[in-house]
Amino acid sequence: MNSNPNVTGIKHMAFAVRSAEDALRTYQQFLGVPEDTPIEAYVKSRNRVALFRLGGTEYQLCESMDPDGRFASWIKTRGEGLHHICYEAADIEAALRHAQANGATLRECKACGVTGSHPHPEGFVAFLDNDAGGVEIEFMQVYTPDELSEYEKVKGI
Ligand SMILES: [Zn+2]
Repeated sequence: MNSNPNVTGIKHMAFAVRSAEDALRTYQQFLGVPEDTPIEAYVKSRNRVALFRLGGTEYQLCESMDPDGRFASWIKTRGEGLHHICYEAADIEAALRHAQANGATLRECKACGVTGSHPHPEGFVAFLDNDAGGVEIEFMQVYTPDELSEYEKVKGI
């Protein structure tokens, strides 16, 4: 079995946490994450997220705003911890074809209600319905500058 030739790196790692503040505090205390790291509220996906880079990788500490939210539901069955790794793909359709040719199926994006590749703020994303050792697999094809301005125009940003 070939490794996926379309994966070019890790875009981010996302952790399901009960409290973004508490989790961020630990990263600040022991790992030197800056004190002014903000916690952003994402109303559409109903999450509060502390986002920072550490050791060259983007971390997202994700807290659901609702008890039945995406991350809160995950914590109920599996506890806090690594929720998904977002793999950067040069061509997301090729990455999905490769995974599906090897038996993967696609998972609906809970924030958008869309299955398969679709636009998000930073790029096109898609989720697999096949967790790797309990960790969800996401792909992202990061926008080119032209695609980003097109996305922002459509969204009215
Ligand atoms: Zn989505």
